[in-house]
Amino acid sequence: APRNPSTDEQISSPLQVFGQAKKQINSIFVDIQEYVTDASERMIDVNKICPDVIVENELKFILDYRFKVKGICEVLTRDHMKVAFFGRTSNGKSTVVNAMLGEKVLPSGIGHTTNCFLQVEGSQTGDAYLVTEGSNEKQNVESVTHLAHALNYEKQLNEKELVHVYWPKDKCSLLRDDVALVDSPGVDVTPHLDDWIDAHCIDADVFVLVANAESTLMVTEKNFFHKVSTKLSKPNIFILHNRWDASANEPEFLDQVRKQHMDRATDFLVKELKVCTPEEAVSRVFFISAKEVLLARVKERNGQALNSEALAEGFSARYMEFEEFEHRFEECISKSAIKTKFLNHSQQGKHLVKDMCSIMEKVYNRSKELTHSKMCQQKEFQEKLNFTEQQLVCITNQMKMKIHQMVDDVEDKVSKALND
Ligand code: GDP
Repeated sequence: APRNPSTDEQISSPLQVFGQAKKQINSIFVDIQEYVTDASERMIDVNKICPDVIVENELKFILDYRFKVKGICEVLTRDHMKVAFFGRTSNGKSTVVNAMLGEKVLPSGIGHTTNCFLQVEGSQTGDAYLVTEGSNEKQNVESVTHLAHALNYEKQLNEKELVHVYWPKDKCSLLRDDVALVDSPGVDVTPHLDDWIDAHCIDADVFVLVANAESTLMVTEKNFFHKVSTKLSKPNIFILHNRWDASANEPEFLDQVRKQHMDRATDFLVKELKVCTPEEAVSRVFFISAKEVLLARVKERNGQALNSEALAEGFSARYMEFEEFEHRFEECISKSAIKTKFLNHSQQGKHLVKDMCSIMEKVYNRSKELTHSKMCQQKEFQEKLNFTEQQLVCITNQMKMKIHQMVDDVEDKVSKALND
């Protein structure tokens, strides 16, 4: 496994690069916060003692920077990588999410359709709970059935609404590494695609189109991604042809069907959406069976043996292809999230420190000038004092002489008068 040279910690998944970057940028911002707090406190003191040195605007800017840095620090601790799953109803979106999580977290299957947006993310407390939009109430989730019930019956949910599902981090490495997975209602059930994109997709780092390998890409599915790519520049899109286990029933057409799907998906990404090159498309299009992967992982987690006879021919190859998808996905989301989430913040941090520095420099120069001019004034004043002192000495001496003379005169006159 590669090492991170700055911390010398081992990195076993590309997702951990995001974690490392997050740790580093957070610690940089803690330093910036200390610097800004220290600087603003000093400025307040200086302003009390010597208000001429600081211009009113400068003090206001520095106090504003304190709030700005605090705001960035808060956002940074909450930052995560976000992947959003789209596709027609029943293509297997919830099953793909569950397979990646390694257990049945989201309800799926006949009788349950996801009728709102569901965001699964790591729970800080270790408990499983959900929070509906516009509410702070944590509703405990004991099981998938419970979650399905809460979503279906307890409240009439709007398709645009986002429900947060917080799941214990220790149960799934994706959640531990700060990935949030968003499941959506089928793109075929809504006329409000634009609203969906504005509300839930603008900050997604990766999009996964879960398509059905038993049919071709649908116009509704394509339309959705056309809209996404008008709002986001070069979105990262993966296409999963799910239910590939069904192909085992018709082995004679397997290669031909795969090639046809591959060509169409590549054309869609490269020529229609122009989001990647033909070479890149190879690692963006996969043929998988989410149901099989989920089954295998749940069995493994429970320490049960996998009955391979119950699985369709070619299971191992499909499982490996799913793992390959996960690896490419991890590389892509980590890289993209570091760029979209941290680049902006690190630039803001750089500008902020530069602006603060320039204000402090101005204040310092102004205080230097003021000290200099006060010293000059003092020197002038001292010279004047010296001159006055000399004058005084002179005048006093003259007066003394005069008084002596007058006394002598008076004495002369008095003794003369007495003699007469
Ligand atoms: P969603 O509406 O897109 O979230 O679809 P679901 O995940 O709820 O799946 C719909 C149905 O398809 C469920 O009964 C799943 O068990 C089934 N399903 C999902 N993935 C696969 C797969 O890879 N192969 C097969 N044969 N069935 C699948």
